[in-house]
Amino acid sequence: MGRIAVLGATGSIGASALDVIARHPDRLRATVLAAGRQVDALVELCRQHRPAHAVIADPAGFAALREGLRDAGLDTHAHCGDEALVALVEGDACDTVVAAIVGAAGLPSTLAAARAGKRLLLANKESLVLAGELLMAAAHEGGATIVPIDSEHNAIFQCLCSLGEQPGDPSRRAPAGVARIVLTASGGPFRGRSRASLADVTVEQAVAHPKWSMGPKISVDSATLMNKGLEVIEAHHLFGVGGRGDEHRIGVLVHPQSLVHSLVQFADGSTLAQLGLPDMRTALAVGLGWPERLDSGVGMLDLLAEGGRLDFEPPDLEAFPCLRLAFDALDAGGTAPATLNAANEVAVSAFLQRRIGFLSIPAVVEDTLAALPAAPAASLAQLHEADRQARRHATQALAGYGQQ
Ligand code: NAD
Ligand code: MG
Repeated sequence: MGRIAVLGATGSIGASALDVIARHPDRLRATVLAAGRQVDALVELCRQHRPAHAVIADPAGFAALREGLRDAGLDTHAHCGDEALVALVEGDACDTVVAAIVGAAGLPSTLAAARAGKRLLLANKESLVLAGELLMAAAHEGGATIVPIDSEHNAIFQCLCSLGEQPGDPSRRAPAGVARIVLTASGGPFRGRSRASLADVTVEQAVAHPKWSMGPKISVDSATLMNKGLEVIEAHHLFGVGGRGDEHRIGVLVHPQSLVHSLVQFADGSTLAQLGLPDMRTALAVGLGWPERLDSGVGMLDLLAEGGRLDFEPPDLEAFPCLRLAFDALDAGGTAPATLNAANEVAVSAFLQRRIGFLSIPAVVEDTLAALPAAPAASLAQLHEADRQARRHATQALAGYGQQ
């Protein structure tokens, strides 16, 4: 019986993971559920899935969680805070961890799962952007298997596995025969728009993704193309391609239908792709069942029913500078990706609170990267310090932007 910790259980990925788990009661069980602040939603999930442990990050929610579980007649143990979460991730309560907390807040538990040698279903891309080298090294030392739960990286994982590669082994670099990895991007809700026309787009427009249903932060990241930038950095760490001197080995292609999830090109002229409907339950089923294939509840792709065409176009880096900023941060290395990620989290949060306009998101990120040049980063402490400084700088910079 697979014992699974779902971190970020009340979110979009958390819901998809629990849906797949519930389809396989004979082999999968959610034993730990963790959320940030949504106590009522967490108690409701505990009612449905009866985990041994529930964790709320916010200390203010602990009493309500304990009472809610008691009132529901559940024997689920209540916990709160990062330390409790890390201890549960490291301990015997789970052998698989779905890392689906949003943002850098997911790093401690993700690192703990890697160090403890768990099967790590990694959705929390920000932890790879912030501390990719340390996270991959921790997974290698701990003997963890990483299965990426980002549709693009999961597609690449599947393409590489089909060749007998073992992408779950973090020590592996992309095999010599891999010429290039091409990440596809839907283009988001503003694909085809000019930069000037984006000045007054609203939060509602930005989070209305045409193809994927996701949490608010990643939806805004998809609208700015920062999501694809974070994914380029993610792919660099997961598959050992891209970065300074190797930029040509990671490409980005806009594909509005979101049916081809990514491509791997080989030295012999072969290109492998993975296709499917845009539903994260496929990636989660791959992670939960690998090397077996599990029913995920996702229907079969019918290309004719989907309109019978697959279109591709280059990304517009003028209208969506966040993608360029991410490539630059990867090239600069050291603390630059941590700075990029932290500034972006601050700017996206301010945009969602309607304190700055859409175009101010790349402006704040660029301003922060310029003010805090990349420095070498050998330790987690240095990366945390870079993250802290970037948040402080970006927060101050917000005042200068306003609704533009
Ligand atoms: P979401 O906003 O829907 O859910 C976020 C979850 O994290 C919630 O359960 C929330 O309670 C929890 N959380 C927030 N702060 C926390 C904290 N400090 N401690 C513990 N829990 C905390 O987000 P989502 O769309 O599910 O995305 C989650 C992660 O997965 C992100 O890193 C995102 O980039 C990645 N991802 C999501 C998708 C998708 O389709 N939604 C696809 C690829 C990757
Ligand atoms: Mg993705």
